[in-house]
Amino acid sequence: MVFTPPSWVPPMPFDPPDSIPISEFILSDAHGREPTSNSRNPFTCGLSGKTYTAAEHADRVELLSRALAAEFGWHPNQGTEWDKVVGIFALNTIDSMTLAYAVHRLSGVATPANAAYSASELEFQLKSSGATSLFTCVPLLETSLKAAKAAGIPTHRVYILEMPKAFSETKPAPFKTIGQLIIEGARLPDLEPLKWEKGQGKRQTAYLCYSSGTSGLPKGVMISHQNVISNVIQFCTMETHIREKRPQGETSEVVLGLLPLSHIYGLVVIAHIGAYRGDEVIILPKLELPSFLNAIQTFKIASLYVVPPIIIQLTKNQKVCSQYDLSSVHGLFTGAAPLGAETAEELQKVYPSWKIKQGYGLTETCTVVCGTPEHDIWFGSSGSLIPGFTAKIMSPDGTEISGYDQPGELVVQSPSVVLGYLSNEKANRETFIADTDGKGRWMRTGDEAVVRKSPNGHEHIFIVDRIKELIKVKGLQVAPAELEAHLLSHPAVADCAVIPIPNDAAGEVPKAFVVKSSSVGIEDHDRMVARDICKWVEEHKARHKWLKGGVEFIDVVPKSPSGKILRRLLRDKEKEARREK
Ligand code: AMP
Repeated sequence: MVFTPPSWVPPMPFDPPDSIPISEFILSDAHGREPTSNSRNPFTCGLSGKTYTAAEHADRVELLSRALAAEFGWHPNQGTEWDKVVGIFALNTIDSMTLAYAVHRLSGVATPANAAYSASELEFQLKSSGATSLFTCVPLLETSLKAAKAAGIPTHRVYILEMPKAFSETKPAPFKTIGQLIIEGARLPDLEPLKWEKGQGKRQTAYLCYSSGTSGLPKGVMISHQNVISNVIQFCTMETHIREKRPQGETSEVVLGLLPLSHIYGLVVIAHIGAYRGDEVIILPKLELPSFLNAIQTFKIASLYVVPPIIIQLTKNQKVCSQYDLSSVHGLFTGAAPLGAETAEELQKVYPSWKIKQGYGLTETCTVVCGTPEHDIWFGSSGSLIPGFTAKIMSPDGTEISGYDQPGELVVQSPSVVLGYLSNEKANRETFIADTDGKGRWMRTGDEAVVRKSPNGHEHIFIVDRIKELIKVKGLQVAPAELEAHLLSHPAVADCAVIPIPNDAAGEVPKAFVVKSSSVGIEDHDRMVARDICKWVEEHKARHKWLKGGVEFIDVVPKSPSGKILRRLLRDKEKEARREK
């Protein structure tokens, strides 16, 4: 049984253009934007108030691309995109999108990295993406320089994105800033317009984001210009329909830009979709409750884009929240990890007028697959398919499930489904599959879902479990295989397996099951060895990958005859132990 969006969802109004860069689609009025959509400033700093108009933003993109062309010797219409890969390792700034669009203006690829990464994690991404320059910000400069050196990027190819004062105490010299490059760009001649062939936007990678997919190490996900454009049209078609129903009939509003723009949710839903429909995105570099609440009050933010841990903070810190005027907020949208019905109900009690909506998506679907419509909110559901998506629920034996309420793997089709993983044919074969008739290309999400009918008669998708090996901490990915490989390099570890365990604040946290190596003597206390193993992770990995779930010693890691870790057995063992507690 193939599921399609419910009848109330309007179809995509036009096919996603396949021969233009994302920036042209977003910034020009020629592609379906509302005529008033550039009346608000697209990006405003939520700490300093610094902002640019839509026209200034477009100018800055053009001037920066001229400077980058001169700096790197790049030509917009020469070479392939893989000769022009730019690493971005920075906290959110109002120029994050200026930079990405300037890279695209030169037919290049932007590869955004999680700002929490350690130097070795960043080095991995820079090397595997083939980045030849790195844009960072002052607080991350030290990590950036270490990673750049290890990845063979010379210091003069490291640049700075300016941040509000509180984040930039040290001087960026001798590094050039985006502001300096833009000034240089103003003195340079115009660039040749892009001359893309028919279909180039469909084939050409715009972003290389990292995701571990259904198993293994993080992999570069090739996201085309058309993939992003598609999801912008798909999401806006569904949302605009909702926004038109608002009493004021406004189709643009002030939204929160707190989630990292290095993650697909922040990048596509907040930055691209926001800019296309004319929202003003209030950029915040970090989650600090007072500055977050203050930004809502100061800028009268209407829609909050959040992840479940932020919802928990809003629910649990009522005393602090009540000191701020949050009356401008009419709703929030959460994604990247499950929001349970109970948590949603608790939030609703505190903020009765807010519309609490949930969306579900992946890096590999270039974001939103389904979302809750305002008129059919159903707590626990991830909402209805958005226009342009088709879905199937598959049982483990590969047959299609044809009824409601029967769990199976969610498999989807959409013009936003990405090109594939960079240089990883095995993962591509496993994830992107052809129909039995060899026609359609489907994507396996690795998530277990059921379809249910809401009391209003619309089909909703509920994500009920995760089949793939991923752990989601505060909405961020942790690949068990990555942690296992790292743990195996510790002298006390002979074998290991990492699984997710539930955590109130973070959703999930990693826990390691470890078989001790013969180098561990009987006189070594387990607690000390476990502490040392945790430290090993803390020294080398980003904070969200730390073993907050602890270390448990076992005699043998359960494996299948082919050597695959039987994680389900460890997850069941963990559940049993928790029940007994
Ligand atoms: P990422 O590529 O980092 O966005 O991670 C995608 C994964 O996050 C999905 O495959 C799901 O496992 C999980 N995820 C995202 N949104 C939701 C949601 N609303 N409910 C449950 N899991 C989600």
